[in-house]
Order: sequence, then structure tokens, then C-alpha cells
Amino acid sequence: MEWKAMHITIIGAGVAGLTCAAEFVARGANVRILERGSKIGDKACSWWAGGMLAPWCEGESAEPAVVKLGQRAIDWWKNHTDTVISSGTLVLALGRDVSELKTFANKTENYEHVNAEHIAALEPDLADHFHKGLFFKDEAFLNPRKAIIQLSQELERLGVEFVFNSEVKINHVKGTDLVVDCRGLEARDILKTLRGVKGEMLLIHSNDVKINRSIRLLHPRIPLYLVPRGDGLYMVGATMIENEERERISARSVFELLGSTFALHPGFSEAEIVEIGVDARPAFPDNTPRVYWKDQVLCVNGLYRHGFLLSPSMAQMAANVVFEGSHIPESIDEYLR
Ligand SMILES: Cc1cc2nc3c(=O)[nH]c(=O)nc-3n(C[C@H](O)[C@H](O)[C@H](O)COP(=O)(O)OP(=O)(O)OC[C@H]3O[C@@H](n4cnc5c(N)ncnc54)[C@H](O)[C@@H]3O)c2cc1C
Repeated sequence: MEWKAMHITIIGAGVAGLTCAAEFVARGANVRILERGSKIGDKACSWWAGGMLAPWCEGESAEPAVVKLGQRAIDWWKNHTDTVISSGTLVLALGRDVSELKTFANKTENYEHVNAEHIAALEPDLADHFHKGLFFKDEAFLNPRKAIIQLSQELERLGVEFVFNSEVKINHVKGTDLVVDCRGLEARDILKTLRGVKGEMLLIHSNDVKINRSIRLLHPRIPLYLVPRGDGLYMVGATMIENEERERISARSVFELLGSTFALHPGFSEAEIVEIGVDARPAFPDNTPRVYWKDQVLCVNGLYRHGFLLSPSMAQMAANVVFEGSHIPESIDEYLR
């Protein structure tokens, strides 16, 4: 009998759908992606991500499995895009908050303590303000927008069909061997425990401050992360709000983000605000992602704040389920065993 490649339809061209497509194509499937937006990123939470590939830092609040699986993401993205920068993450705290560094260090691993001299060598512009920190040298960051565009271009070259402006009902997809639901938060119609966790970000431009790597500024109430985007652009974000609102940013959040950015370096007071973004991250109650069957549909969802960090592992898990008939782990901990 002639061997026939499986035809798979993926709903959603966010980071979950695109990474799944990459893993399915690598195993010989014919893949089609249906996306309601008019282009990549148009209606995706993935468009707003910081792009930190910081598994060890995430250990501060995430499960150990997130730390382990997240380590695979750096090489995965390097194989699919040229936007990964492996310059480590610098975690800092202002004088009055230095006790936060100790708490952070107690919950994480794979870092070194850095002093003023070391900070000056890593980030000369921050040397005057910070004298103690933690350096996670093996971490990286990417430009999420470039990453998903480049990945979609690679997929097109490999024969993946993209159908934009195509908002589909999950049970109405025909002419395919398998439907994979990667609709992010929109999958609440069938995944009842999925919820949104609002995140807000600013894109700022500064010619006065130069920062080369991902920075986390610890603060008891308002921690901040900053991710360079090149050419004087920086993404700053922080907020984690139990709220599904996807469009409105509050004045309070803007004040807090700008206040923390100014605390990181007063030179940012002259920065231009280029963009304000907001979306809700899809999350399950335990904040870890899942692959599972819902009737005949394979669902990949719940990436929470780890879309770029965990989607490569979740896509590989999904491909193992489809092509090897692997048992679906109850939790990502089990996937590691
Ligand atoms: C401010 C902020 C900062 C973040 N920072 C980071 C970070 O630094 N690192 C990190 O790893 N993660 C980060 N995240 C989290 C990350 O963005 C999410 O985990 C990730 O985007 C979720 O991806 P997804 O593919 O599941 O969902 P989405 O990106 O939302 O993709 C779902 C896609 O499905 C499409 N769709 C929905 N319904 C339909 C339908 N019926 N028919 C057709 N198409 C449909 C949507 O249009 C969308 O394109 C951040 C998130 C936010 C908001």
C-alpha cells in the first residue's frame, strides 16, 4: 500500500500553532494552518510577548519542570530563527530592595553573584545605580515578532499552507485527518478551566540609555523586566493581572511600568513611548501548559507566561502523541520522567 502523509489542520497561528506545525512537518505531515487574523501576530497574544528565554529565572515562581523544559527552547529557537541573543539575564535590585535578591537567589539556580565591577563590565550604563545582582549567564532572549514571522516563512517554504482571515468553529473543520486546537484563550469554549492573565507592555525608544541584555528589576510589589529589541528599542513589561481584558491598559499600570523603568535608569525619562500593548495569557489553574484530547481534537494550550519558553517542548509532546501514539502525560512533570 502506498504510504500517505497525514493531513493535519492547526487552528491558530500563534506560537503554539507555529511550533506544532514545525514539529509535525519535520515528521512528514501535510500541514495547513487556519488563522482568524489577517497576518501573523495580528490577533495573537504571542505578538505582545517579551521574548525572554529565561528558564532559570522562571524557577523563582514556576514548577521545576518549567525550568527543565524551558532549557530546550534556546536551541530550538536558534535552529528556526536568527533572533536569539544569548547574553544572559541580569537580575538587579535597588539599594532599599537588595533583600529581594537573596529571596530570588534562594528560589533559583545556575547564577552567579555579581558586584558593582562586574555589573559595570556587563552593563556600563547601569553601573552607577546598582552594586549587587545575580547573573544567569546561560539565558537568552529573542524578538518574538521576528521569531514568529521567520518561523512562518520557514514553514511556508516547507509547504505549510496558511489560510488567513479564517475564523473557524472547532468542530466544523473538514477534509483533514486531524484537527489541532491552538486557539489560545479563544479555546475557552471547549477548555472550561482555561483563564486569561492580563499582561501589559510598553515599547520605548531611547538614545540616552544603552542596555545589552534582558534585565529583571526586583521590587516587592512592582518587579520589571526589560528586553532590548535593537536600535534603541526596549520592551518593558511586568504586569500579571487576574483579568481577561485584552485591550485596555490602566493608568496605574502605565505609571508603574514607567516608574520602574525610570528607577532602572533615570535616562529613560526622555524615552519615547512607541507602543502600548496588552493581552491576556491563556492559563490553566496550575499555570502549566497541557496537551490533551478533547473528543477528536488535540489541544495544545495554557502556555501562560511561557509561550516562547515552553511551546517547543509542548509541540514535541504533541508530535509524539500524534506520530508515536505516546501516552499523554497528566502533567508536564510526568513528561520529563
Ligand atoms: C505582555 C506579555 C508578555 C509576555 N512575555 C513573554 C515572554 O517573555 N516569554 C514567553 O515565553 N512568553 C511570554 N508571554 C506569554 C506568551 O505571549 C503566551 O504564552 C503565548 O503567546 C500563547 O500563545 P498561543 O499560541 O497559545 O496563543 P496566541 O498567541 O493567542 O495564538 C492563538 C491564535 O489563534 C487564533 N485564533 C483564535 N481563535 C481562532 C479561530 N476560531 N479560528 C482561527 N484562528 C483563531 C488567534 O487569532 C491567534 O493568532 C507574554 C505575554 C504577554 C501578554
